[in-house]
Amino acid sequence: MLTREHCLAADASDELAGLRQQFRLPQDVIYLDGNSLGVLPQAAEERSLQVLRAEWGEGLIRSWNTAGWFELPRRLGNKLAGLIGAGSDEVVITDTTSLNIFKALAAAIRIQQQAAPQRKVIVSERDNFPTDLYMIQGMMDLLQQGYEMRLIDDSLPLEQALNEDVAVLLLSHVNYRTGAMHDMAAVTAQARRHGALTIWDLAHAAGAVPVDLNASEADFAVGCTYKYLNGGPGSPAFIWVAARHQDRFWQPLSGWWGHSRPFDMAADYQPAHGIRRFLCGTQPILSMALVECGLDATLQTSMTALREKSLALTDLFIQLVEQRCAHHPLTLITPRNHAQRGSHVSYRHPQGYAVMQALIARGVIGDYREPEVLRFGITPLYLRHVDVWDAVETLRDILDGANWDQPQFQQRHAVT
Ligand SMILES: *Cc1c(COP(=O)(O)O)cnc(C)c1O
Repeated sequence: MLTREHCLAADASDELAGLRQQFRLPQDVIYLDGNSLGVLPQAAEERSLQVLRAEWGEGLIRSWNTAGWFELPRRLGNKLAGLIGAGSDEVVITDTTSLNIFKALAAAIRIQQQAAPQRKVIVSERDNFPTDLYMIQGMMDLLQQGYEMRLIDDSLPLEQALNEDVAVLLLSHVNYRTGAMHDMAAVTAQARRHGALTIWDLAHAAGAVPVDLNASEADFAVGCTYKYLNGGPGSPAFIWVAARHQDRFWQPLSGWWGHSRPFDMAADYQPAHGIRRFLCGTQPILSMALVECGLDATLQTSMTALREKSLALTDLFIQLVEQRCAHHPLTLITPRNHAQRGSHVSYRHPQGYAVMQALIARGVIGDYREPEVLRFGITPLYLRHVDVWDAVETLRDILDGANWDQPQFQQRHAVT
């Protein structure tokens, strides 16, 4: 039987324990939602004041040059590159994940229109994050050329969905609800054998699990910086394009920031060389500057070390729920197999929404996803083994006492 003392001992010998000091965490909160909104890096407060007072307040328009604002999307993209197996000048930080999906999808479809115009199917997963599916639908509606979306699910496995009609495969590396992870290299190779290009959504993978885009021979990738990368609420996303595709076409959101010489103010669009053409318009500098603080904190360690601790903590969570909450109707929907698990743990419970509200009221912050899913994000940068123990104890207490069964825990908020 595991005890709280075991957890304290594991923390005492944890080589990553010191990283917790990089973040400002509220007292009396166990934060298991870093997969949805990361925490505040200590460095972000000073950096934000510097951007406000010195760069904006004093530097004003000069800061586009003197404070490096103009180069931020690429400079920060190069910092992120090492965490996702990308090369230098292959990633930019910009726009939202949804918008970057649109750009990547458009570029992939253009490549296929030249190479194999009969390919009109975009394959994704029924259980994918909805915005991915919505962006595909919007793209098909815009194209109006007989494009079709095909969704893999229990009745249509990937090997049956892929054939000579498929132009693009768009998948999330780690599923936002279940935490199940695809084998990126194997799936990319499978798609390639069928002539399809791949777009990977790394929203729940970047900073959470080791990713190697170039070794996997992927084509495009997008993802968030406000989740495991601790970039701040709504911080700009990223887009990676394999070097071999970068100069083939330009993306359709051909704004002036993607122009080769934006300050020529020319009437004709001339795309910049390389990844820069995937930018559109003026960037949100205040928010983007803070992305660097989250990246710097992660870069103090390695994805290999983070992965090891993440698996130890998710294993611990699963074991403790088994030991201490066995009589309750909790169904683990996250794979037990390490190779198929991301960095969060999810359970179904018939009263999942109310149980999560009761947990949050007790300071254990996870989140709820339809249908009936309790989701616990495990972020090894700042979580301790003892946090996992205390979180599961609180869950056990709430379930044992049916404390979730109160009217205030049934009330739905706009954001769950
Ligand atoms: C969180 C998430 C998004 C979010 O997209 P935004 O445009 O930032 O709102 C997209 N895809 C996946 C898989 C996600 O988990």
